[in-house]
Amino acid sequence: MTDCLFCRMVAGEIPADVVHQTDRVLAFRDISPQAPTHVLVIPKEHHATVGALAETDPALLADVVAAAHAVARQEKLVTDGSEPGYRLVTNTGPAAGQTVHHLHVHVLGGRDLGWPPG
Ligand code: AMP
Ligand code: ZN
Repeated sequence: MTDCLFCRMVAGEIPADVVHQTDRVLAFRDISPQAPTHVLVIPKEHHATVGALAETDPALLADVVAAAHAVARQEKLVTDGSEPGYRLVTNTGPAAGQTVHHLHVHVLGGRDLGWPPG
């Protein structure tokens, strides 16, 4: 049994509020949302960081980004005519605040997100 939280969510051992999935990617709502839309998109296979995944399986990273865009569309952040927009964030290491060491892309939207981020 793995002690990786997100691998356990992929395995169905820990509940996830799933909003989108494919055979290789899972998207679920963040348990502590920082915006009206706050969804995490992960590869079902364990990869620790975005850089590690880019080096080992760039096609899977493209799947993760495509799924993030699909979630944004589903959340009405990408619409014809007026596009409120959204932000993708992926933290790597302690300086960026990475707490779960299974790559996840945060999809944030539904409010003015501000720039630069904190
Ligand atoms: P990071 O700090 O970039 O590693 O982000 C980890 C994210 O995982 C945080 O935004 C947490 O709120 C979120 N999180 C932790 N546990 C769960 C869970 N059981 N279900 C959904 N999201 C979670
Ligand atoms: Zn994992």
